Amino acid sequence: MSTLIDNFGRQINYVRLAVTDRCNLRCQYCMPAQGIDIVPRKELLTYKEMYRIIRVLTELGVNKVRLTGGEPFVRKDFVSFLEMLSYNDLLDDINITTNGALISKHIKTIEKLKKVKNINLSIDSLHPEKFAKITRRDVFPEVYKTFELLEKSSLNLKLNVVVQSGFNTDEINDFVQLTKDKDIAVRFIEEMPFNGKGQRNAEEVWNYNKILNNIQSEFTVTELPSKKSSTSRNFSIENHRGTIGIIPAFTRTICNDCNRIRITSTGTFKNCLFDDGVFNLRDFIRNGASNEDLKALFLSLIKEKPENGFVAEANRKGNVTESMSTIGG
Ligand code: SAM
Ligand code: SF4
Repeated sequence: MSTLIDNFGRQINYVRLAVTDRCNLRCQYCMPAQGIDIVPRKELLTYKEMYRIIRVLTELGVNKVRLTGGEPFVRKDFVSFLEMLSYNDLLDDINITTNGALISKHIKTIEKLKKVKNINLSIDSLHPEKFAKITRRDVFPEVYKTFELLEKSSLNLKLNVVVQSGFNTDEINDFVQLTKDKDIAVRFIEEMPFNGKGQRNAEEVWNYNKILNNIQSEFTVTELPSKKSSTSRNFSIENHRGTIGIIPAFTRTICNDCNRIRITSTGTFKNCLFDDGVFNLRDFIRNGASNEDLKALFLSLIKEKPENGFVAEANRKGNVTESMSTIGG
């Protein structure tokens, strides 16, 4: 079987698919207050098209998918799509990244889907007013309820915390403290300029080292062996049930073992978060491409995967300014 191996010998087995560009929140670091210009519905991939793309990718060795957005649960019938994807026998894991504001009523159904194992819940503050300031929406009680339900559920729970200078850096160690009694992984993400505008004025740069130093000022941490292709460097803390991780999303020290590709909600194939899109799969499919055509296309696109995110960024036509909501974070 042909599989997806890039020119640097990296085997691609993971695809991140944005199922929509729409979102019910307006996080400061992701989009402007008025939101982004969403595309007409017909320009979004249909679930059938997404199923087919994933099927072809799994026939080329992909066995994991992360569904993201925008907010995946904003798209109508998303839970039915999860059921549909579960029928793909070549897929081992279906993971989801969500803001948690619309999912509490679906948790029981999702728990029954054996391939859905990991949920990443984005929560950047534990204070309702600050949470509202960051997300520009007043949904903290619902998100916190989701957090509690997910923690009790059979799903593996990771919290995503984007570290934002001037907003939530004073809460980093409160999030670490959460792992004392809770069996969860809290992951701190370096902020990137994917917010619809470009680089934000930051009081201080909160990169991997600064985040780690901040945590070490209060806790004794031990680095855990990382799984190959992990996006985070992970740590245990003495007497804590859970773990913490730091994702060097902006300083990009994790590219060597990259095993990922991305597909945006409009069907743009991306080899790297930092590239500006390599190919429009939607038009290719709608113009009649067969599964064999798609396979040949993927095998050739993967050979263009840049060595790392810095090379990808340097090759872009424009600066990094698009919203994470359109890319699928
Ligand atoms: N709406 C869902 C959510 O917020 O979890 C899924 C999509 S969101 C784009 C995926 C992840 O990207 C979230 O954890 C979010 O915090 C993160 N993210 C968005 N914009 C970011 C940025 N500029 N820098 C770093 N992470 C970002
Ligand atoms: Fe929406 Fe997620 Fe972006 Fe926040 S980070 S605006 S929840 S897509």
